[in-house]
Amino acid sequence: MRIKIYFSDFIGGYILRLIDYGWDDGFKTEFEKLKEKDYMPARVVRQEKGCYHLQCEDEEITAEVSGKLRYSAKSISDFPAVGDWVAIKLINEGKSAIIYSVLPRKSKLTRKAPISGGRKVRDVNGMKMVIGGSTEEQVIAANIDILFFVMSLDNDFSLKRMERYLTVGWKSGAKPVIVLNKIDLCKDLNEKLSAIEKISGGVNIHCISAMKNQGVEKLHQYISNGKTIGLFGSSGVGKSTISNCLLGSDKLITGEVREKDSKGRHTTTWRELILLPEGGVLIDTPGMREFQVWLDEEELDTKFEDIKRLENQCKFNDCSHKKEPGCAIRKALEDGTLSRERYENYLKLKIEVGYLNYRINQRDKAQTKREVLLAKIRSNH
Ligand code: GDP
Ligand code: ZN
Repeated sequence: MRIKIYFSDFIGGYILRLIDYGWDDGFKTEFEKLKEKDYMPARVVRQEKGCYHLQCEDEEITAEVSGKLRYSAKSISDFPAVGDWVAIKLINEGKSAIIYSVLPRKSKLTRKAPISGGRKVRDVNGMKMVIGGSTEEQVIAANIDILFFVMSLDNDFSLKRMERYLTVGWKSGAKPVIVLNKIDLCKDLNEKLSAIEKISGGVNIHCISAMKNQGVEKLHQYISNGKTIGLFGSSGVGKSTISNCLLGSDKLITGEVREKDSKGRHTTTWRELILLPEGGVLIDTPGMREFQVWLDEEELDTKFEDIKRLENQCKFNDCSHKKEPGCAIRKALEDGTLSRERYENYLKLKIEVGYLNYRINQRDKAQTKREVLLAKIRSNH
């Protein structure tokens, strides 16, 4: 028996079509170039431990990549990612599928991911932090049409961060849109807005309050049937609140769907690619959230340059800034040149970033073990 999706109430009775999921003439042309009549198109809605969850014409199915795709892949970016369109064949009496090809991507959100065993885990303030190692491109999400870069107009506001977002946006091939949220908390909107305009490079800017449902309707102009959108921004800026506004419900925000498993039992699972009620698709992957923290890591270096400089002045290279003699950090804290609050903010962000890196590392180890192994084997030849 095939896995069948039963959508929550408000999409009940809706007949799913690949067009609703973003299938278009461009993908169709690429698909036809494959010249294999048994292939079926499908879109990746979730990926875990080498297993892919795909949306086919009218059902969700699990799949693995073919041996040929695995061996011809030059890097992990050649493997399917969430949002990718793939060519599949059904196997096992239609219970599952094999992915033979990844159709060329319209856009891709990428980061440099560590690959080889060259990485070391170092203790940073009691947390494990991963350093070193070589990297290769990893696709976090594919075929996003519109990337909403969300920043809030309170303490989170940072021009530097928006500049980084826009760089990511342009590189991805998706259309970037700036969303400034929490307008209700902002007292100097004009100043912030003109500062953002200067760095925006002509990208549209929308000021909204997701909580008060003010201005959110302006985002609807970017969303239409078959268009894929992604929300990007630090934790706490209001991405979930915005998603809920767009979904018109808080039911599906986790992407939860009820599936029948192979024994016919109903189970609850989730997907990272969700249909919006008015048309359009929302992509929300853990990878995008991790990518965000990865950007935060870069920010850590620029925002706390003064503390980095102090750390370099400590007598011992591996100073923990606790008891060691000649500690520049403790001295600065004592004489007030470094505020305790600022130092604690720095430590907090550093620990968050370190902890997340550690978790990503552990998950990468489990999930992409085979891919990493193959990459290594290939690089040795
Ligand atoms: P996420 O981590 O980016 O998904 O952020 P959330 O959507 O969970 O929002 C974080 C917090 O900010 C929540 O307590 C929201 O209620 C609040 N929030 C979201 N949008 C607004 C807004 O427009 N104004 C204000 N004042 N708070 C907001
Ligand atoms: Zn020190």
